[in-house]
Amino acid sequence: MPLHSVMTSHRSLLLTLVFLLGSGFLATSLLSYHASRESIRKGIVNTELPLTSDTVYSEIQKDLVRPVLISSMMARDTFMRDWVVEGERNAEQMTRYLKEVLDHYGAYTSFFISDTTQLYYQAKGILKKINAHEPRDAWYYQIRNSDVLYEINVDPDMANKDNLTFFINYKVFDYNNRFIGIAGVGLTVDAVIKLIDRYQQRYERSVYLVDTQGRIVLTGTGGGPRGAVIGQNLKDIPSLRDLLVTSPEPHSGTFEYSAEGEGHFLNVRFIPELDWYLFVDKQEETALNDVRQSLYLNLFICLIVTLVTVLLLHRILISYQRKLETQATLDSLTGLPNRRGFNLMAIDTLRDTQREATPLTALLLDLDHFKRLNDTHGHLAGDEVLAGFANDLKSCLRQSDIICRWGGEEFIILLKGSDTSGARRIAEKIRELAEQHVYFFSGLPLQVTVSVGLAELQPGDTLQSLIARADSALYRAKLNGRNQICIENPVPA
Ligand code: GH3
Ligand code: MG
Ligand code: MG
Repeated sequence: MPLHSVMTSHRSLLLTLVFLLGSGFLATSLLSYHASRESIRKGIVNTELPLTSDTVYSEIQKDLVRPVLISSMMARDTFMRDWVVEGERNAEQMTRYLKEVLDHYGAYTSFFISDTTQLYYQAKGILKKINAHEPRDAWYYQIRNSDVLYEINVDPDMANKDNLTFFINYKVFDYNNRFIGIAGVGLTVDAVIKLIDRYQQRYERSVYLVDTQGRIVLTGTGGGPRGAVIGQNLKDIPSLRDLLVTSPEPHSGTFEYSAEGEGHFLNVRFIPELDWYLFVDKQEETALNDVRQSLYLNLFICLIVTLVTVLLLHRILISYQRKLETQATLDSLTGLPNRRGFNLMAIDTLRDTQREATPLTALLLDLDHFKRLNDTHGHLAGDEVLAGFANDLKSCLRQSDIICRWGGEEFIILLKGSDTSGARRIAEKIRELAEQHVYFFSGLPLQVTVSVGLAELQPGDTLQSLIARADSALYRAKLNGRNQICIENPVPA
């Protein structure tokens, strides 16, 4: 096969391998990535998100609903109601009561506002008298005039350096169901935000609370979805448009939506004690980070495996190809170059010799009566003698000489730098060695003689003409009785 077509088939084999390995690896990696993605997605939607939501819900119950319960207990407390009904005679009794609530339940602030006296009592004493015209007190009148039993407000607490505080404002009624004031406790918003931050960090998702109208009422430090702040309505956040299409008003359930090109999983749960909805939102991106990382790692490993495989195969093919090329120029029985190998070397040698004007002599050798040897002792015996004779030839020659098994029991030698007389000496040495050497095959002694035709390169000679002259010299050697050397151009006396 011509060399360039061998190279082409080599290249196309490597390309096919790259294609097969690459597409196989890519397909399996992507398939397993999609399978893991789906199972993670299902896990989040069906189990993980509702479970987190339950946990956050129960923590909120503990941390936020408890103040609601305390406030409701205060509103139902007989001491509180008796004290008001009896005319709020001793303010100290009320402040002591409020201090007791504060200390016992660990609230941030506790208060009672009497509807009769408009006095604002807290644990340290009377804070002030509320005023219907004071905007800061507007909340009191709003609640008083509404039909709700209690309300949760976020306002600055005057009693505590105007810190933003969560107030649970519970209406207090006397025994005739007449409104007599508002009692309750407060938590600083800071503490509540820290609480949300803790949930968000612990569960790696964003947590916020929304009222029934869709207004954000509570978020962590970083704000609500897309940095939305408390008071903002979900409807006013453009990136939530996709969610609002499926769920225009807050309601419980699990939703999937995309915001600014990123997938989200959302679990919404109603908290009846607060009349708020708990939103627990997980970004698909963070949930799938690990599986995406392992996809990249997978692809990287596949790339390395493909490259290493292709590189190894490439090296194997190259060395195999070299071996084939060498084998194609060698004779398998004697290990000498064959005609093909000889031609490659001889053309160069002839060119060098002609350029350098050094002598070169060709010897053509043919074993005598070799057919007879084969016929008498068998072909294998003949092989043995051929191989042995080839070794003898090598031992008589220099590294620079070119030797070849010309075919059958014929050999050709190009002696570089040797003229006819030098070459004749070498030929004689070969002839003598052959004559004397006893080869053994299966313990049987075998002997052979060789006839040699010798021709020195003459100006204007080609390789063919040189060999042809050596051949005719050989012919003469055979004719003259074999086991001798004949020279085509006898050295002039
Ligand atoms: P001559 O002295 O005239 O050269 O006689 P010859 O018998 O050597 O000449 P001929 O060309 O008639 O026969 C050559 C023989 O060499 C015939 C063939 O069977 C044998 N031969 C050629 N190649 C091989 C080989 O690889 N192994 C063996 N065992 N024999 C071979
Ligand atoms: Mg022959
Ligand atoms: Mg012969």
